[in-house]
Amino acid sequence: MRIARVRLGDAISFAVIEGDEVAELNGPPLGALSFTGNRAALAECTLLAPVLPSKIVAVGKNYAEHAQEFGGEVPEEPLLFLKPSTAVIGPEEAIRKPRGVTRLDHEAELAVVVRGLVRNADEQVAAEAILGYTCANDVSARDYQMSDGQWTRAKGFDTFCPLGPWIETNLDPHALGIQARLNGELRQDSNTKELTFPPAQLVSYVSQIMTLLPGDVILTGTPAGVGPMEHGDTVEVEIEGIGVLRNVVVDA
Ligand code: ZN
Repeated sequence: MRIARVRLGDAISFAVIEGDEVAELNGPPLGALSFTGNRAALAECTLLAPVLPSKIVAVGKNYAEHAQEFGGEVPEEPLLFLKPSTAVIGPEEAIRKPRGVTRLDHEAELAVVVRGLVRNADEQVAAEAILGYTCANDVSARDYQMSDGQWTRAKGFDTFCPLGPWIETNLDPHALGIQARLNGELRQDSNTKELTFPPAQLVSYVSQIMTLLPGDVILTGTPAGVGPMEHGDTVEVEIEGIGVLRNVVVDA
């Protein structure tokens, strides 16, 4: 099932995509789904970020080839950092390149959306707590990431967390092609089977540290091939079985 957040006219709602139509939901899709009975043509809706997380927990160096491109190894435990909820944007929205940033990189990532409250969960409980998966771009100001010694500024600007186009709930996340394209040119091309720490293990691990709330998002790390984006570029993250998340880059 594909769950989206859509704007139709002045109204914003969650909805299930059924072919070329959407079926509106009562509230967020975090418990039992309840439909309002309203339907609309998908083409008439604007797709928004499919979830509004309280926090985004991201994982660094979770693909060996990407760890190597920065001269490192995959850590023995997941390397975590946070992105603020205010960084989230939806499909087709603009990634704003902050003034002063000289190197703005794309990072194609599989995003995990958590359904309920998760705390101290083992892997089985964690797996059951996953609502579904969407595409993410962990936009990174690489110059600040290198110079600051920690990553809050580099990863935390507004618009630095595109999510979408929807949440796919019926998906085995363990062998999905994942790509990034810049202006149509292939830049990242890998498969989630290369993930050192797969989704359920990450949800379990994070839940030992901080309580995950309904709708929270975990970014599972990026494969090799990250690279710079400039004003006017179009960046696409495509994950097999989910779809394409497309954004443009503009100077702020
Ligand atoms: Zn990343």
